[in-house]
Amino acid sequence: MSEARSTHLWRPYTQMKHAAPPLEAVATTGTRIRLADGRELVDGIASWWTAVHGYNHPHIAGAVAAQLAAMPHIMFGGLTHASAERLAARLAALLPGDLDHVFFSDSGSVAVEVALKMAAQLWINRGVAGRTKVLAFRGGYHGDTMGAMSVCDPEEGMHRRFGAWLPEQIFCDLPRTEAETNTLDAALTHNRDRLAALIVEPLVQGAGGMLMHPPEVLARIATLARRNGLPLIVDEIFTGFGRTGTMFACEQAGIVPDIVCLSKALTGGTLTLAATVARTEIFSAFWSDDPAAALMHGPTFMANPLACAAANASLDLFEREPRLEQARAIESRLTDGLADLRGLPGVADVRVLGAIGCLQFANTPDLAALKERLVARGVWVRPFGDILYLTPALSIEAADLTRLIDAVTDTVREEA
Ligand code: PLP
Repeated sequence: MSEARSTHLWRPYTQMKHAAPPLEAVATTGTRIRLADGRELVDGIASWWTAVHGYNHPHIAGAVAAQLAAMPHIMFGGLTHASAERLAARLAALLPGDLDHVFFSDSGSVAVEVALKMAAQLWINRGVAGRTKVLAFRGGYHGDTMGAMSVCDPEEGMHRRFGAWLPEQIFCDLPRTEAETNTLDAALTHNRDRLAALIVEPLVQGAGGMLMHPPEVLARIATLARRNGLPLIVDEIFTGFGRTGTMFACEQAGIVPDIVCLSKALTGGTLTLAATVARTEIFSAFWSDDPAAALMHGPTFMANPLACAAANASLDLFEREPRLEQARAIESRLTDGLADLRGLPGVADVRVLGAIGCLQFANTPDLAALKERLVARGVWVRPFGDILYLTPALSIEAADLTRLIDAVTDTVREEA
């Protein structure tokens, strides 16, 4: 690691004073990462769950190369282009119900900000004052920008030190039990005139600790939101594009959210792009003769043509290759492979949903040492807190998945 590199780069979620130098990656192929020292690692987390088709898929690379030659970028204010038009139509067709109105931006956090602004302005445009709060769920994670941080878990979340800076929101537990359902119902009724929306991660609270809930819980939230006349924002940034075994997690609950946030695997993990997609009833509140009723948001790189080309190519791959079947096959491999760890003294829990496998330690281990031992076994995973998780590419080869599971189970057995 050169002096210049370690001096100038400020790394994510990292105490720069003590952190070991990061490993230097020089190339990717399939679901592997090659390091500068020549080692090759099987990627167990698909670059923060984005690279669902593995890296360097020739179909995506070709589409991006063609777009780069034709038009790498064009501002989206007053101009449009075929890649964005096609992608918006395809997303509308894939999403359930009348989720037909697609607003592009450039990262997951911004997609959440846009969703919160849509919810806020919806009520302003309807002439209803005072609805300035969002109901969010404990354990949730929605991103690192100010609005997104305000709806992350208020106590355990990594953003708690910014509390004084953030808009105060209303938090409830996910309604897993009857008592929790009653509490949520009461919170909604009590705060209805102050609330603009609810926001939830469907089926799995990802960065909050890979906490999973059954589809009925999501369906319950949707019912309560509807009964109280509140829009439901479903953050599919982690779950979207096959991660839970269906294209979108909300499908498993049979619900049509009012607003959906997408990013990460939208481009197959190749370029940064996000979408906030609204139902017609939401969009209609902005459809007006009043210029001030327009949605006042417009990131410079929104609908970037390269990213839209990558996303269209990624959707082609979902049509041509059996990604959802692969996700479900990974689910059974993870279920079988991690089962033996359940009951070990140092293991508090093992959870699997779709192509997400997670084990929770009874106590927080030495994360750096754990990661090092896994790297020594030829796999790349990034444990956090008391969690070690796998979110491999949906296209991962059976042998690589076996290597991942074996490395994790052997290492955890030694640790536990
Ligand atoms: N929402 C969810 C559910 C996420 O998992 C993430 C990122 O992990 C985000 C929002 C934020 O996305 P980004 O890191 O692209 O801003």
